[in-house]
Amino acid sequence: MNAQSSSREIRNVVIVGGGTAGWMAASCLAHIFGPALKDAKQITLIESKDIGTVGVGEATIPTILDFIRFLKIDEADFIRRTQSTFKLAIKFADWRVKGEAYWHPFGSLGPTIENRPLYQYWIKQRNEGVAQHPLMDLSIAIKLAEKNKFATPVSDPRSPLSGLKYALHFDATLVAKYLGEYSENKGVQKIEGRIVDTAMRDNGYIDAVVMQDGQRIEADFFIDCSGFRGLLIEGALKAGYEDWTQYLPCDRAVAAPTPRAEYTTPYTLSTAKEAGWQWRIPLQGRTGNGYVYSSQFTSDEDAFASFLSSIEGEPLAEPRILRFTGGRRREIWKANCLSLGLASGFLEPLESTSIHLVFASLFKFLDYFPDKDCNPRVTAEFNKLAIAELEGIRDFLILHYCTTRRDDTPFWRYCREMVLPVSLEERIELYREQGRIFTSFYELFTPLSWVAVLEGMGVSAKRHDPLIDNVPADPVAKAMANVTSLISETAFNARPHDETLKALGAVVD
Ligand SMILES: Cc1cc2nc3c(=O)[nH]c(=O)nc-3n(C[C@H](O)[C@H](O)[C@H](O)COP(=O)(O)OP(=O)(O)OC[C@H]3O[C@@H](n4cnc5c(N)ncnc54)[C@H](O)[C@@H]3O)c2cc1C
Repeated sequence: MNAQSSSREIRNVVIVGGGTAGWMAASCLAHIFGPALKDAKQITLIESKDIGTVGVGEATIPTILDFIRFLKIDEADFIRRTQSTFKLAIKFADWRVKGEAYWHPFGSLGPTIENRPLYQYWIKQRNEGVAQHPLMDLSIAIKLAEKNKFATPVSDPRSPLSGLKYALHFDATLVAKYLGEYSENKGVQKIEGRIVDTAMRDNGYIDAVVMQDGQRIEADFFIDCSGFRGLLIEGALKAGYEDWTQYLPCDRAVAAPTPRAEYTTPYTLSTAKEAGWQWRIPLQGRTGNGYVYSSQFTSDEDAFASFLSSIEGEPLAEPRILRFTGGRRREIWKANCLSLGLASGFLEPLESTSIHLVFASLFKFLDYFPDKDCNPRVTAEFNKLAIAELEGIRDFLILHYCTTRRDDTPFWRYCREMVLPVSLEERIELYREQGRIFTSFYELFTPLSWVAVLEGMGVSAKRHDPLIDNVPADPVAKAMANVTSLISETAFNARPHDETLKALGAVVD
């Protein structure tokens, strides 16, 4: 390395915020910098106990395991110390109409036949009136979830478990603590205190943050994990915010834990309500609950009362109201500052995507890792990809609302009638007419997820992939019958979810 390149190298990183996002950033960089953290590099994380963290954020998607494995963390240890339970799916109740439910599973919907997804054959059979099973009989995750069972994926492609994926429900505060210990052990410096100001350079980059006691902390690069306030990305750099409330009108949540139920379910329950929806997330020692609602359509008092009347048992803590605005920063990375977590924007937790977005952004950041100059072309490319991912998730969330048949409250009537992003409108239409979903490389949700929600919400495809017409119907029908019976037998033989947790040393009694 020559003298010029080494003088341009980023040596000091300051992370503002010690919530889930801040400690994820710290642990990720600590892992990447490795031994260099002891001498050549420095990572400092600043957090304020007075300000505290959001502390909610309990459900994840399967990519969380990629993050845990990337850090070389022992999964069983993580599960024990973060109160985790397994998550195989989300069950959506009362979304299409009251009294009905559907599932969004993780993992596959059966194997492919002649390289075409099995759901395409199912659409054909359904439209011809010969389907023998509901679509979700092709999902091992759902057959396990329905029986409160759990199994781990296997590599043998003949087993339905080869297509299984799972995620975790956990206590976000314990996760931040866990990752805090991990990071500090690797050499990350923690500073407790409140930042009251930012010092800027002439070129518009951040030079330092200024603490309440007057201390000035300089860095080459800053990561803003300060939560909704976006202390650096908005406060200092004025990145701007794109508000998506017209598409996702929920802007508040009331949340409180309740005592754990007799057994823990390996799925998140999302129940549609008068002006939003309510989550139920089982952890080892308690159940997390929250009503996400729109303040345009209900008052805090009514939401509070509705929430209390639909939780199981007495709340273990005073219910808290959280306010947010769905949307994203116009620039997620600006100058020498990357925003992560709530500082970068917020999409309601309907598909548990916020924590995923933290490490998805971190992984992208590693691919685009800058030098001190932070070339604007690099940041522009990063922002393009990050925004494409966010818009894909936004459309997927809106899908859950706009396809409702409910018209029992002003909220649901609004959802039925709202003007959709063109990208979503076209995707729904293409599925309805042709049975096709085309997603791009950087989108999080695959066609299988889209099909699960579309069909679950009653958007039926009229046609199927034309290539499957070349495959004779009888062998397909036999293959489909074999797949469903193997899935059901595998689920029957699996262990109860709580037993799997106990075997890992978790306390679930
Ligand atoms: C209602 C709700 C439900 C959610 N459910 C889920 C879910 O199920 N799944 C999911 O993936 N995500 C969920 N999320 C999102 C998830 O909670 C967050 O993405 C995650 O916790 C990251 O938060 P954060 O670290 O960005 O911010 P925070 O937790 O708000 O942390 C901010 C940090 O910045 C520090 N800070 C702020 N200002 C200063 C200052 N001036 N000086 C020093 N320090 C400062 C604070 O002390 C704190 O340490 C949910 C969010 C909400 C609101």
